[in-house]
Amino acid sequence: MGGATKRQGFKSSTAQLLVTAGTKEAVGAAEPCQFHPQLPSIPSRVAIAAILPRLPEPCLEREHKIFRGIETISNAKWCHEDKTSEIQSIFFNRRYAYLFDQMPSGWRRYFHGTKRACHVGGSDGYLELCNGPACSLCRILTGGFKMTSAGSRRYAPMFGRGIYSTSVSSKADKYAMNHHIRSRLHGIILCLVFIGTFEKLHQADQWKTAPAEGCDSVMGATVNDGGSRRYTEAVVYRESSIIPIGLIMYTRTGRK
Ligand SMILES: [Zn+2]
Repeated sequence: MGGATKRQGFKSSTAQLLVTAGTKEAVGAAEPCQFHPQLPSIPSRVAIAAILPRLPEPCLEREHKIFRGIETISNAKWCHEDKTSEIQSIFFNRRYAYLFDQMPSGWRRYFHGTKRACHVGGSDGYLELCNGPACSLCRILTGGFKMTSAGSRRYAPMFGRGIYSTSVSSKADKYAMNHHIRSRLHGIILCLVFIGTFEKLHQADQWKTAPAEGCDSVMGATVNDGGSRRYTEAVVYRESSIIPIGLIMYTRTGRK
């Protein structure tokens, strides 16, 4: 277990060479955000994490710049060819609107799919969050991600008990389950994730509880990169490293 471990990162703005025990990995120049290549300096992570995730605003108008931005990201990263999606509404915490002008270094906008046990997101008005403990979607939107909900004794995910997200919206869709409700809508959470310097894992390590020393997150290596994952998957092991900032409601055709 454990697999080959690589450390990569994009904290530095210039290319570096990182030499670890027996391995030599090029640490590329700061990986630019796909949408905003000119990133500002690193902000206070704590300051961002301290902002409680709230989604008090009504859904975005379709013409809104942020709606278009999120729709573009989501559609561009819908990679599964056996299913399609159509975004119906987007709820977004406008406190994070600046992210569509400048992304803080080390953070990424990723998707997270989870269990939806109420009809939240089903109307075009304000979000009506439920109080049900079984509704993971509302629990995350209300109080943020919790490590206590990350895996269980019976089920340890591939890279251990952490909080998982992906750059691929159609992969997050696999985990977006309507639980004991009938709804044609599905919801995935748009998150701000601190990837920072990441440890790349090529094999499963279900006992992992933290990234390698000096790293902020774990990334599962994709098949193209010699790993086993078809799509990019990131894991963080601290609640402050992932913030829900929006909810994308969509209809799906094809298999989940
Ligand atoms: Zn709910």
